[in-house]
Amino acid sequence: MKYVDKQQCMIWFVLDMSVKKTYGCRFEGCGLPFDAYPPDDFHTIATLDKKKDSIKRTYRCPKKHLNTIYWLKKIRTSRESMKKRF
Ligand SMILES: [Zn+2]
Repeated sequence: MKYVDKQQCMIWFVLDMSVKKTYGCRFEGCGLPFDAYPPDDFHTIATLDKKKDSIKRTYRCPKKHLNTIYWLKKIRTSRESMKKRF
């Protein structure tokens, strides 16, 4: 049984990794997609505007244009989503 548990952990890990988001480059006339990964498990909401308590991250599109994304902490909605699910 322990083996099965381990497998399940692996599956969850892969799911967690899939929180990456794809954005279009903001540079004029570019728009090439680039992948942005959240800085941690808590800051998973991406915004282009600087907000309080946001984490600033810069990403480069395939043409090396700099794109700045601010990551916001996810508001506690787990309880609500649980309600929806059950
Ligand atoms: Zn670009």
